[in-house]
Amino acid sequence: MSDTQTATAMICKTCKMDCQRFGKHRNGLRRFRCPGCRKTYTEAHKRVLDTMYIAPEKAVLALRLLLEGNSIRSTERITGTDRNTIMSLLLKAGERCQKLMDEKIVSLGVKDVEADELWG
Ligand SMILES: [Zn+2]
Repeated sequence: MSDTQTATAMICKTCKMDCQRFGKHRNGLRRFRCPGCRKTYTEAHKRVLDTMYIAPEKAVLALRLLLEGNSIRSTERITGTDRNTIMSLLLKAGERCQKLMDEKIVSLGVKDVEADELWG
C-alpha cells in the first residue's frame, strides 16, 4: 500500500493522471512528471505568492523589516532576498490588504441586511 506516498503526489491537470516523482527543482521543491503528456509540475503548496518562490518566513521577515522603516536595500541585505522580489512582495501585500478591506466591507454590509430581515 502506498497511501502515504500518494498524499504528496500531483495530479496532471490535463490527463487527470497521477504524476511520478521527477527529482527536485533548484529551489528545493519536489518535481513531478505526468506519465501521459510528460508535463512537469513542481509541488505547489509552498508557493506563497502566486508567481513568487520565496519562503513564507522570509516574506514575513522582509515585510516586517520594511514596516519597521528599513530601506529596501537593507532588507535585501538582511533577508538575502533580491530587491526586485522585495518590491513585488510589497506590491502584492498592498493588493491583498486592499482586497481584504473590500471583503470586510462587503461582509459588514451583508451583516446589516441580515439584521434588518431579522427585525422585519
Ligand atoms: Zn498529463
